[in-house]
Amino acid sequence: MNQQKSLKIVQKVFSPKEISEGVDAKVRRIIGNNEVVRIDPFLMLDHFSVKLPGGFPDHPHRGFETVTYMLEGQIHHQDFKDNKGSLGPGDLQWMTAGKGIVHAEMPGSYEEESVGFQLWINLASKDKFCNPEYQEIPREKVPIAKNENVTVKVIAGESLGMKGPIFARTPALYLDVEMGPNATFEQNIPKEWNAFGYVYKGEAFFGGKQTKVGKNTTVILKKDDNDTLIVETKGESAKFILIAGLPMNESVVSYGPFVLSTEKQLTQTFEDYQFGKNGFENAPGWQSEIRKLAKSKSFVF
Ligand code: FE
Repeated sequence: MNQQKSLKIVQKVFSPKEISEGVDAKVRRIIGNNEVVRIDPFLMLDHFSVKLPGGFPDHPHRGFETVTYMLEGQIHHQDFKDNKGSLGPGDLQWMTAGKGIVHAEMPGSYEEESVGFQLWINLASKDKFCNPEYQEIPREKVPIAKNENVTVKVIAGESLGMKGPIFARTPALYLDVEMGPNATFEQNIPKEWNAFGYVYKGEAFFGGKQTKVGKNTTVILKKDDNDTLIVETKGESAKFILIAGLPMNESVVSYGPFVLSTEKQLTQTFEDYQFGKNGFENAPGWQSEIRKLAKSKSFVF
């Protein structure tokens, strides 16, 4: 017997404007903006485009995770404990900042833009002060699920029977979906989870009411008792990111790159960062080598 499917519908659609972030980076803030402050457990998602001498030179993080997923070009990174590496197209870095990371993220070219997504996921209060950790997943280790005219890179969670490689402290789904024309994609999203998407190429029709979502457009899905998302294409193909996760329902007290649970923790964090305590021991006086990429064309990382 074929059970009637309960189709998710769209709550909101908007096209974020391009803004400037870091040093001369162009960013479309997909969530974490005036339209949607955050979608618990997700704090922010940026679609960035940056080339040298721009970039994201030395800066701290505490209390959450950052997930960098590259589409074009390269991003080099180096942190205050001298962890370093480079990401190219399709590569993924899932960084748990926990009690503290100071790092730089810099593009690799003066000519070509480095383009990708950076997602910020909150850490539950019990995990805020965990040890920092990296999960670096090269493109060949991101599973690709295929259905008729649909290709899904499974970064986290499960789609079309394939599971992503990431250990996620917060149960989450992160998919990069490519659809040819006249295709249908069906994805289960637990009804307790929050979910949103972002079309970065072409156009697609989301949800039971087939809401049209064009290029560079955010789509927020309504949270209700329904658990099946249908996305369809018509004459055009589409590429989009789909993200969902279990909400934490905890208080969020944040200032820039510090995301804590209480005012007291936030005040303590400014002190820890300034004086090099409680996870920021290496912070005072530290400068990355890769920030020099923006200073000299002859500097090679
Ligand atoms: Fe960062």
